[in-house]
Amino acid sequence: MEQITNRSLLSAMCENTNTAIAVDNPATGDVLGYVPNHSQQEIENAVSKASEAQKAWAKQTAKQRSEVLIRWFNLLMENQEDLARIMTLEQGKPLAESRGEVVYGASFIQWFAEEGKRTYGETIPTPMADRRIMTIRQPVGVAAAITPWNFPIAMITRKAAPALAAGCSFIAKPAAQTPLSAYAVAELAYQAGIPRDLLAIVTTTDAVMAGELFCSSDQIQKISFTGSTNVGRILMKQSAESVKRVSMELGGNAPFIVFDDADIDAAVKGAVASKFRNAGQTCVCANRFYVQDAVYDEFVEKFSEAVKALNIGNGLEDGVTIGPLIDDNAKSKVQRLITGATEQGAKVAVGGKDQGGRFFEPTILTDVTHDMAIVQEEIFGPIAPVIRFSDDNSLVQMANDTIYGLASYFYSKDINRIFAIAEALDYGMVGVNEGVISTEVAPFGGVKQSGIGREGAKQGIDEYLNTKYICLGGL
Ligand code: ADP
Repeated sequence: MEQITNRSLLSAMCENTNTAIAVDNPATGDVLGYVPNHSQQEIENAVSKASEAQKAWAKQTAKQRSEVLIRWFNLLMENQEDLARIMTLEQGKPLAESRGEVVYGASFIQWFAEEGKRTYGETIPTPMADRRIMTIRQPVGVAAAITPWNFPIAMITRKAAPALAAGCSFIAKPAAQTPLSAYAVAELAYQAGIPRDLLAIVTTTDAVMAGELFCSSDQIQKISFTGSTNVGRILMKQSAESVKRVSMELGGNAPFIVFDDADIDAAVKGAVASKFRNAGQTCVCANRFYVQDAVYDEFVEKFSEAVKALNIGNGLEDGVTIGPLIDDNAKSKVQRLITGATEQGAKVAVGGKDQGGRFFEPTILTDVTHDMAIVQEEIFGPIAPVIRFSDDNSLVQMANDTIYGLASYFYSKDINRIFAIAEALDYGMVGVNEGVISTEVAPFGGVKQSGIGREGAKQGIDEYLNTKYICLGGL
């Protein structure tokens, strides 16, 4: 933490008390510092203040709100290096990826600062001569978010920016593993002129308490969650009681398909980027690779070479491309899935070994079959299982044979195949000849049990707006 030059970014850190949450560095296991473990009462107070603050914020013009958001965007960019270091220290991803996430996270603020000015209503041709019909769009009120540890900045800004731009207030509970980044971006928001009560970060080790509080509160009108499908289900059930609006970005099981007409070098490059980003710990990471017979050997050989060249280590060090896993549970899961697959006949082509601490070697498994747990479950680690396939129809069936429907990827140069497969995949997002597709201008989200709603793009702000119909009669 000594390397952070803008010390105000760390102002939420507190003394090591009995209740404070210790934040550790997954690369070393060292404690980086402590943040408050808020009580239920403190979170309730934050919700009440957010509810009060929202009224004044909603009265500002969209242009005024936009100006504040642009200042916030600029502050993130000016503090890119410090924010990236904080992120790598608490999350483990290589510094280059953290720098990229700061830019990506900031891009949502810039985008929604613009979109906030375009939340148009409509005038609708009237069927009754004495009436005029129109709609306006209004902020839902207080929006609450629960966010995961894998994108400690972007998962906050992707929700906070559209909420604030729409005129909502925003309260977030980040994952207990990565609260420092959340507090740092919030601090920059305050410096940009966003009132403290309007944007609150609360931290607790009792995620269940926070979830129940958010879902049951009458002062909160909207829940936005990114995390596992299991927790998403719980939050949806809990939100039913108060009939709250929900957005859910849940788990994925992304297929990465290489057809026999693909550019294999491009597919290898996309495969490495898609699979091994953040050590495989993203919900859009390629989870299973399907490679067509004719190109299987060539793909596996080239993919293996590329994976052997990855550099595992502490993300702060130059040249490191694979950091540690977030915690011991993540490592145990990876080990369990590899053992299960090899017991059923899969072969370790590259890697496969525990590297001590929270590090696990980037790994390729071949001779994998579609029914193995490593194909059916979300791995969330640096393991690439490769499955051989022959015809397009059975491939589509296998690719869609999952409860998930977030991201999918395929490589082909045949325009007929491209449209046929892109339309047949039951996923919210399809990367064609691209392994990394997230951008603030495109709608991110899933179908099936991968989620509800979209983030980013023009759709992202709809999640924080209600449409009101106004009928003007007696004319
Ligand atoms: P992961 O396995 O990636 O940590 P989770 O879905 O468990 O994914 O966690 C994502 C976020 O959800 C974190 O902020 C976590 O604290 C929170 N969380 C976990 N369990 C619950 C729960 N029962 N209710 C509300 N929030 C929860």
